[in-house]
Amino acid sequence: MAKIKIQFAGGADTTTGSNFILKVGRRNIMIDCGLFQGEKVAEDNNRDSFPYNPRDIDVLFVTHGHLDHVGRIPKLVKEGFQGIIVSTSATRDIGEYILKDSVGILTKEAEREGLPPIYSEEDVDKAMSLWEVKNLHEDMYIDSGDSEIRNIKITFYDAGHILGSSMIVFEIKGQKIMFTGDLGNSPSPLLKDTEHVPGINYLIMESVYGDREHEHLEDRVEILKSLIKKTIAKKSVLMIPAFSVERTQQLVYIFNNMVENKEIPLIPIFLDSPLAINVTKVYKKHEREFNENVKEIIRNGDDIFAFAGLTMTKTPEDSKSISKVPGPKIIIAGAGMSNGGRIVHHEAKYLPDSRNTLILIGYQAAGTLGRRIYEGAKEVTIFKEKIPVRAEIANLTGFSAHKDSSDLQDFVGKMKKSLRKVFVVLGEPKSESYLAQRLVEQYGVKVKVPMVNETIEITL
Ligand SMILES: [Zn+2]
Repeated sequence: MAKIKIQFAGGADTTTGSNFILKVGRRNIMIDCGLFQGEKVAEDNNRDSFPYNPRDIDVLFVTHGHLDHVGRIPKLVKEGFQGIIVSTSATRDIGEYILKDSVGILTKEAEREGLPPIYSEEDVDKAMSLWEVKNLHEDMYIDSGDSEIRNIKITFYDAGHILGSSMIVFEIKGQKIMFTGDLGNSPSPLLKDTEHVPGINYLIMESVYGDREHEHLEDRVEILKSLIKKTIAKKSVLMIPAFSVERTQQLVYIFNNMVENKEIPLIPIFLDSPLAINVTKVYKKHEREFNENVKEIIRNGDDIFAFAGLTMTKTPEDSKSISKVPGPKIIIAGAGMSNGGRIVHHEAKYLPDSRNTLILIGYQAAGTLGRRIYEGAKEVTIFKEKIPVRAEIANLTGFSAHKDSSDLQDFVGKMKKSLRKVFVVLGEPKSESYLAQRLVEQYGVKVKVPMVNETIEITL
């Protein structure tokens, strides 16, 4: 009998900081090395030393390019990791932009606190030089160094969460262990659905929305349309704090369709985020990964990320000039949880006016400005100034890139026959425990919610 171990080094009891180690034979295989995020882009615990020696890690597999899954890779490299990094090609491309962007943000945050930055651009470059790519469904083998276990087979499957996102399956002695990374809110406007992978025995799954449901796609597009019409009637401002990856591209694509199908009148729409503009280029480069519906539209000659009225504002000067454009107007800007980025400037300016609207379209982590607005704060502090919140606040969680509770349960339901154990991670504690309980009640599967940095042993 072979024993393997899984160390839940990050991403247990919290949605961020994804970081797991699979110990098989003589190999230490890491899955994700993300940043802990909350009130600040980088929480203080990102400075703590890793609960392992980075030199001991042989390979790092990356599920997708979000900062909470890649954000400590340069730190890992800086502190001695010398193995290879493996992901899909789109994840590598997105990861590079995300990490380069994070250097600037982390450096500013560190300067404010009089501390050195967690890592530098050189560390990012070093990480990129170690980064290799694999296609979905392309098997890869690692020698475990144990004659009884022999090879470990690794395969990536489409998670449908953001471009390039994958679930990673490790096959060891005929047993399949799947790390889901984040799971997409399928059907997605742009991406293919989350793949069904048969025969999974051990599942390490996310639970960001483990205890909540989203509204349907048609509903969210209709609500968005009515909010745009209200904005036009009031000649006001519609703000959308959007994550630079996926959510922004989804919105631009949805606006593209609304404008080109003449469902809404022409209105200035600003994409005010250099990172989102760069990531949109990565989306265009990898358009073969979109779902059939979108590929058909592209084949018919439409550029799905360009339409009349859309302006991409790259420089700070361009961004500032948005305020000179009279309403009605729509501003899409990062950060998605209003914990930094250009959206905060627009919020400081436009939240006090009751004619304006702010749409929250994604998960708002505890401690962020977005969370305070979501919870109905009548006043918030931005740049040390008290800002009254009089604008209408709309919640459209259906734009989330994560599966909701029912979809997470269905995902497990489809594989219940082969499952020996489910580990629920990457959620706030109440979300993890709610999902865990539902899975036990519905499917009778064995479920565990690991503690922070717990290591569990599995006998294969
Ligand atoms: Zn993600």
